[in-house]
Amino acid sequence: MTTHRKKIIAGNWKMNGSLQANAALLQALAAGLQVAAPACAVIVAAPAVYLAQIQALVAGTPIALAAQDVSAHDAGAYTGEVSAAMLAEFGASHALAGHSERRQYHGETDAAVAAKAAAALAGGITPIVCVGETLQEREQGQTAAVVARQLAAVIDLLGARTRDIVVAYEPVWAIGTGRTATPEQAQQVHAALREQLQHADAQDVCILYGGSMNAANAAQLLAQPDIDGGLVGGASLKAQDFLQIVAAAR
Ligand code: PGA
Repeated sequence: MTTHRKKIIAGNWKMNGSLQANAALLQALAAGLQVAAPACAVIVAAPAVYLAQIQALVAGTPIALAAQDVSAHDAGAYTGEVSAAMLAEFGASHALAGHSERRQYHGETDAAVAAKAAAALAGGITPIVCVGETLQEREQGQTAAVVARQLAAVIDLLGARTRDIVVAYEPVWAIGTGRTATPEQAQQVHAALREQLQHADAQDVCILYGGSMNAANAAQLLAQPDIDGGLVGGASLKAQDFLQIVAAAR
């Protein structure tokens, strides 16, 4: 049953944008969403320095704001980090935690990602916890074990608060490669994650798919019973593409 879970389409801008480009993209998105009101929640995850700009631009639109990362700490000697409370002050409602690029390039461990999710919740931010296997792990038949381990670290730390997170399944081999998981491949992993969440009494958690989602493949992916939305990288930088993905989420 999927009826009680409202779909979410979240754009992950990664390290892209400028004051000018952000304004143009958001104006186009807002105009499109005014013509066709979204049936899903619409979120953009922007570089932290632009949150204030975007907070002003999305006021009065259905677009919500996310950060791409969040510190595991509240405050103090953590040079370069941004706390959940700071993100909340600039209107962010969500933050990605444990995106594969953070895990890969910044050495974020499962435990570190779980700590970030906990800090986000404590600061009033909904974490979008990203999990996913590498190509090598998939080829070695380890997909289920890898994503289960990544999610278990979060469930172990959060306990009952797990019901307040969002999960994103992003196979690493599908990110930015144009190689999307088939709807069946994605559904299989989502169903396993759903079962794990059920055991944690968090069956209503939204599980997004990410990895080369685009205007052409979104509807088929989103039609799967356990795919509750998308985390969209490349295609979120083009207003028409992103709007088409939003339109496919009902
Ligand atoms: P992609 O990125 O849509 O460009 O594959 C998705 C992501 O990394 O969140």
